[in-house]
Amino acid sequence: MTGSTAQDDPTFVIVGASLAGAKAAETLRDEGFTGRVVLVGEEPEPPYERPPLSKGYLLGSDERTAAFVHDRAWYDKQNIELRTGVRAEAIDPGEHTVTLAGGERLAYDKLLLTTGSVVRTLPVPGADLAGVHYLRRIEHSDTLRGVLVEGARVVVIGGGWIGLEVAAAARTHGATVTLVEIDTLPLRRVLGDEVAQAFADLHAAHGVDLRLGTGVREIVGEGGRVASVTLDDGSSVPADAVVVGVGITPAVELAQAAGLDVDDGVVVDAALRTSDPDIYAAGDVANADNPLLGKHIRVEHWQNALDGGPAAARSMLGHDVVYDRVPYFFTDQYDLGMEYTGHAEPGGYDRVVFRGDVASGEYIAFWLADGRVLAGMNVNVWDVAEDIGRIVRSGARVDPARLADPAVPLADL
Ligand SMILES: Cc1cc2nc3c(=O)[nH]c(=O)nc-3n(C[C@H](O)[C@H](O)[C@H](O)COP(=O)(O)OP(=O)(O)OC[C@H]3O[C@@H](n4cnc5c(N)ncnc54)[C@H](O)[C@@H]3O)c2cc1C
Repeated sequence: MTGSTAQDDPTFVIVGASLAGAKAAETLRDEGFTGRVVLVGEEPEPPYERPPLSKGYLLGSDERTAAFVHDRAWYDKQNIELRTGVRAEAIDPGEHTVTLAGGERLAYDKLLLTTGSVVRTLPVPGADLAGVHYLRRIEHSDTLRGVLVEGARVVVIGGGWIGLEVAAAARTHGATVTLVEIDTLPLRRVLGDEVAQAFADLHAAHGVDLRLGTGVREIVGEGGRVASVTLDDGSSVPADAVVVGVGITPAVELAQAAGLDVDDGVVVDAALRTSDPDIYAAGDVANADNPLLGKHIRVEHWQNALDGGPAAARSMLGHDVVYDRVPYFFTDQYDLGMEYTGHAEPGGYDRVVFRGDVASGEYIAFWLADGRVLAGMNVNVWDVAEDIGRIVRSGARVDPARLADPAVPLADL
């Protein structure tokens, strides 16, 4: 077994060589931690950021290397043991050990779980045919770069963020795109009807054939390869490739087997500590108590990995951490760039207020409950996300007329 002994510096192990994991390791060193840091990841690559996989890298405008958080040499220089291509298979909280594939056991003093998410698969006949793709890892994006090409007939299943970004990339490359969404509008559950309609219109204007309010009955193959997709409404869409983006689930397997509290993610307190005092969790996998929102929330977005990893690292070092960030995410599709700040659940708001004209493509949408702003989304309007975050954080009642008036600076609200 490898790890610390009583007279050694402590060993901190991080499982999940992800953005949150890499940022946690970096923070440990920045904060002066001199003990052993081991960062374990099952993917062969060093930690990387996923947003470019469906945007810049997929579009061909960003280099592959631009996605990596650091190059390998950086981890060596920081004396961070980066163990890639190896899965952590079990945690023994009593013994304070992590068992890796192959049987090696690592002793830890503190452990951080940044295992992220796994894609939901599509439970229909034909979903395992060649030509059916998912997008979570960099190698998926490598493959899709050769698939979303001029003239290819691509069916995207799922109108969430990933599905829409893939549709945009495919159209940009000149593929013919059909997008199938079981709900009446893409993103309707997240954004509500008014704003979701704007995304549907955007894709329709870029030539995406939207098939809404219908699911997929079967993916039909010929010679083991996808040939068409049969929808629930009985129609058939010819396909050279299918990309499935029907959501993700938190990678809780390890935590669950170790007996940690798990409920839609690994349950952590506001200091990102699990039900075991020496085990922490951050990023997509953590269902964290957010004192600002007054509830537990699991956030599947980049900023939460970027901020949550460092917060967990500080907490592991014994700092007084209260992780109460206003959730934030962004997307880029065609010439639309947007940022969403805050958290408005379906049915949790009573009004949407627009600042600017949706048809103009430059506007801010605010979701309100009882006169308070829960979330704001700026579309092709920049340098306002921080102000929106401040309004959300304040919890103050705002005058909807002033909110809607572009002449009133957001900072004044
Ligand atoms: C294509 C794509 C585009 C995205 N675009 C955006 C965007 O525009 N804006 C935005 O806000 N968010 C975006 N996201 C979401 C964002 O990337 C995630 O929220 C973020 O990656 C979460 O980071 P994480 O550190 O929690 O874990 P992850 O990135 O999920 O990484 C977890 C890592 O842990 C590894 N792992 C899991 N279990 C084990 C184990 N037992 N042993 C060893 N290793 C293990 C996994 O293999 C993986 O490498 C996008 C995601 C994808 C897939």
